[in-house]
Amino acid sequence: MPLSAKKKKVARKKSTAKKASGKKSAKKTRSIARESKQKKRARVKTILQELDKAYPSVECALDHRNPFELIVATILSAQCTDKRVNMVTPELFSRFPDPASMGEAPLDEIEEVIRSTGFFRNKAKNIQACAARLTEEFGGVVPRSMDDLLSLAGVARKTANVVLGVAFKKAVGVVVDTHVKRITGLLGLTRNEQPEKIETDLMELLPQEHWIRFSHQIIHHGREVCIARRPQCGACTMNRICPSSLADGAE
Ligand code: SF4
Repeated sequence: MPLSAKKKKVARKKSTAKKASGKKSAKKTRSIARESKQKKRARVKTILQELDKAYPSVECALDHRNPFELIVATILSAQCTDKRVNMVTPELFSRFPDPASMGEAPLDEIEEVIRSTGFFRNKAKNIQACAARLTEEFGGVVPRSMDDLLSLAGVARKTANVVLGVAFKKAVGVVVDTHVKRITGLLGLTRNEQPEKIETDLMELLPQEHWIRFSHQIIHHGREVCIARRPQCGACTMNRICPSSLADGAE
């Protein structure tokens, strides 16, 4: 077959597949919209059981030895992988081991250490200001309340929830990062796009005892199975109840 005819055939195949998957996702979107509250609660229960089975003992992937290190590592993890953050924090914390030394550190020295995490100028300013406020207002101790945490530079609800959940085991909210945002949408648990609205949806749907571990489980699932751009639906234990599943035999 001449090359151009071959190319046309491949293009036709791709376009048919695209149309088919478009129809499939439109059908699924309609099915989520129609889902009763009772049905959704039953589906959530199964999702939580599957996550507990697949990820029974997940933990925060950011290396830290205390709440101060966790808050700094979480600020650094914005738009950056946890692996990369874990590569820079040993050096950062050996130079500036506590809020007092980090708050007084020269900005360019912090920048130099954290450069590879991206947005390093902004992050350096935030962790320096956060550490200074911890020293001046909180006696060098990371506070345990959402409001106090939100008063620190560079800390929004995601970081505050990580610190409250991981360091203090307090389930005040649900961590919504990029994996949680993407996968809860795919699972039909939320139709919102803004993290705070997604968090509200999840707090309504999930029993509070799951709030802390749910995000860690979903983050692991996003790294191992429901990978962005190439979700492994065939290997996903939630494929029968996921409205976005592309696995064979999925509804
Ligand atoms: S079935 Fe597919 S889209 Fe749904 S959660 Fe699993 S991997 Fe993600």
